[in-house]
Formats: sequence, C-alpha cells, structure tokens
Amino acid sequence: NGLIVTFGEMLIDFVPTVSGVSLAEAPGFLKAPGGAPANVAIAVARLGGNAAFIGKLGDDEFGHMLAGILTDNGVSAEGVNFDKGARTALAFVTLRADGEREFMFYRNPSADMLLNSHDLNLKLITSAKVFHYGSISLIAEPCRSAHLKAMEAAKDAGALLSYDPNLRLPLWPSADEARKQIMSIWDKADVIKVSDVELEFLTRSNKIDDESAMSLWHDNLKLLLVTLGEKGCRYYTKKFYGVVDAYHVKAVDTTGAGDSFVGALLCKIVDDHAIIEEEQRLKEVLKYACACGAITTTKKGAIPALPTHSEVLTLQNKAFNRRSHLYLWL
Ligand code: ATP
Repeated sequence: NGLIVTFGEMLIDFVPTVSGVSLAEAPGFLKAPGGAPANVAIAVARLGGNAAFIGKLGDDEFGHMLAGILTDNGVSAEGVNFDKGARTALAFVTLRADGEREFMFYRNPSADMLLNSHDLNLKLITSAKVFHYGSISLIAEPCRSAHLKAMEAAKDAGALLSYDPNLRLPLWPSADEARKQIMSIWDKADVIKVSDVELEFLTRSNKIDDESAMSLWHDNLKLLLVTLGEKGCRYYTKKFYGVVDAYHVKAVDTTGAGDSFVGALLCKIVDDHAIIEEEQRLKEVLKYACACGAITTTKKGAIPALPTHSEVLTLQNKAFNRRSHLYLWL
C-alpha cells in the first residue's frame, strides 16, 4: 500500500465525565486523544492502510502516551519530534446543554506549534503517495514555515496533497485572519474536504448548495468534498458532481466523523488516483467513507470509534439487506 503521511497537531482533549454541562460545571474530565491529522493517520491504519504522522509533542508523559497510541495503532511515529521545553497541547472540550461546543485550549505555546523546518523528516515526506494536512499548523511560527516546506517537498516528490481545513476559530486571532490563512494554501491542494459549517464560513454565505461549493473550486483541484453530517456528502470534480447519502446509525458522539471519512477516502485513492475521474467508482468510495464516518459517531471519542474494514463491510451489508427487504415489500 502507498504511504499516507499526515501532518499537524496531536493533542489530548479533556471531555467532561457527564454530558450537557459547561466546562466550569463539569465534575471531572476524561482524556480523549485526538488532533485531526493524527486521527486521519489512525483511521487509515485501522482500515489496513499504510500511514505515518508528522508533528511535535512535549517530551512529557502525555507526549509519549500519544506517540504510543500512534504506534499501537500501526501508525509510523518516525516523523514525531519531542520538545524538551514545551508541553503537549491540551484542550478542554464540552458539548453544553444548548448544543454549543465550548473549547478551552492550553497552547502557550504547546509543542505542536514549535515544530520547525529542521525537525522535518524529509525522507518520510518525500516517500508519501498522499500528504494530508489541516490549517491549525498554519496559525503560528515556526510551525507555519515547517508546514509550507513539508507541503512543497511532498508535492515536488509527486504526492497527492489532501487538505481538510478543520476550522477551530478560537485558536485564530480573528475570523478574517483564519479565512485569509486557510485560503492562502487553497490552490496547492489536489483534494479538499470541508464541512457544511466551513463552507458557510469560507464563502461568507449562509447557503450550503452547489453554487457556493463551486465558488471554492480552483484550477488545479481534482476533488472537492463537502460533508453534511447525517445528510452524507456532496462531491465535485472537473467533470461531474453529486450527492452520496449517509448511513442511518444511532449517533452518540460525532467527534472524528470527518477524520474517519477522510482516512477512508485516502486509503482508497492512494494507489489508484484514477478513481477520482470515474463517477461510479468515486461514489462507491464515498459510500465507504460515509459508512466509516457513520460508525465513528456510534461510540464516544474519536480514536476508539474509528472502524476496521470488516466493521465497515458489516454496516454496508446491513444497509444493503435492509434496502433489499424494503424493495421486496414494495
Ligand atoms: P468532525 O469535524 O466532527 O470530525 P465533520 O464536520 O468534518 O466532522 P461530518 O459531516 O460531521 O464531518 O461527518 C463526516 C461524514 O460522516 C458525513 O459525510 C457522514 O457520511 C458521516 N456522518 C457524520 N455524522 C453522521 C450521523 N449523525 N449519521 C450518519 N452519518 C454521519
């Protein structure tokens, strides 16, 4: 299998032991390892793909715990650096009773922000068939320069570049700065995935339709995806566009659904970029990715909920049998 390298942050989310409370009201917190690029690498490995993560962690117990989670899950951590002077990033996250997510980050600065260009494992980066990243690594120097250098090295070596901006507004100095920086690397990517919320934010509109999605198109783009939670996803290529429905599941925690979706997509296209050019094949892959996303919502936390290939097939077969039964009844 071709190597998928993900680049960026890995951190620990602390989530309340009870749901529907504010951070101040929470009686206690549980550790939930995460960080979108790390989640994507683990999603790939869990599905049987070949993944490596590049980033910086604190040379502390949490940093070594996170590196252990990568390797325990079959993700190469040879591109992980440890900073002696800064801590592993932490975030306290809660879903309040009013449905709003509340974040409190401990990054002043955290080790992930201190990754610099000299830390980069260029051998690993240039052996990637797919190089995947977000936008949090663009927020501060020296990580921003390291991000740009890694992206360029991967592209020069022929990798497909995959971008999921993963907007975390509280980390940016302002909304305008977030939009500007997220868009500053837009035209480098071959594949871009945004959520419905990010589509609204980036296009400054409250419409989630084909017209607003297509306004994000750039000349070198091969595939644009808009994920829509329980409504599935929309896809856009140079030649065709359409919708893929979600699978019906009982969602308990949607954290990581987008990362699971991306991991599945990358796993399928890493050795066969031509899938993007053929609508039927692409739709099959996106159904698979939606099944991965759906399964991820059925358990608490991102990493524990990322599915194996056989779990995805089980959900797809169940849905197929349910549809066949319905068809017989009609
Ligand atoms: P996150 O930032 O939480 O990782 P996201 O907003 O990037 O997620 P979503 O649109 O929530 O991404 O989810 C990605 C995919 O997972 C969706 O396209 C869909 O197929 C599947 N999915 C997400 N939520 C649900 C749900 N409640 N029921 C079924 N499928 C879901």
